[in-house]
Amino acid sequence: MMLFPDIGRLVIAFVILFALFRLIEMLRPPSRRLPLLRRGLATDIAYWLFTPFVAKVVTRIAVILAILPIALLAYGRFDAEAIGQGFGPMSRLPLWLQAIGILTLGDFIGYWMHRWFHGRAMWNFHAVHHSSTDLDWLSSVRLHPVNDVLMRLAGTVPVVALGFAPLAVAGIVPFLTLMAILVHARLDWDWGPFRAVFVSPRFHRWHHTDEAAARDTNFAGLLPVWDILFGTYYMPKGQAPSRFGTTTPVPPGLLGQMIFPFLRRPGNGR
Ligand SMILES: [Zn+2]
Ligand SMILES: [Zn+2]
Repeated sequence: MMLFPDIGRLVIAFVILFALFRLIEMLRPPSRRLPLLRRGLATDIAYWLFTPFVAKVVTRIAVILAILPIALLAYGRFDAEAIGQGFGPMSRLPLWLQAIGILTLGDFIGYWMHRWFHGRAMWNFHAVHHSSTDLDWLSSVRLHPVNDVLMRLAGTVPVVALGFAPLAVAGIVPFLTLMAILVHARLDWDWGPFRAVFVSPRFHRWHHTDEAAARDTNFAGLLPVWDILFGTYYMPKGQAPSRFGTTTPVPPGLLGQMIFPFLRRPGNGR
């Protein structure tokens, strides 16, 4: 596992995404276009530097420390390659079946973790992610490190502990990252007949709206089935969200957003 990202690839991906989403904006009528210098742009740009080079590094170190005891128990040493192969009965399943298992289990845990972050105790950490009012693809990385670390630990540790081979999903990770960015984009896409199968921009943008009817809905990160099963699915026919943000007074800048959850008393949900 590499601690730091490949700067070259990161810059190229950012430039391509920036050009693509800007082109989509320019194709809209001017009245519906989001200006380049939209609200919160500087904060989101700061997050695009902070997230890969600081927050994700912290998260990776936390994950390594958490799976260290599992690796020592399973292999007697910490060997990234061996961990990638998994151990026990799960690791002997076909890789495609393991990939489905890992994604389903990880997304189920992610659903409940996300609901926990919307509750009294954790909301202030998660309010940072909900603070974008001009929500677009750039807002996707606006995440407090405490939020990121706990979500990743909860999703990764059980998968490794059960013996799944993480390499089964290694090829899918870039696609999942792209999906996480795409679902925040200013696109009214819902995948048509697959709208209840995979999360879409319309699905996740409803999660970010400040409209009362959609409050605390659409928690899934990949599979809306969890929202359907647990009664939080919200996709009204023919409608799309238009207002975003939170009533929680989250400071506008990155530094303020880092400190804010430690200073504000918990208990004021959104
Ligand atoms: Zn949320
Ligand atoms: Zn989001």
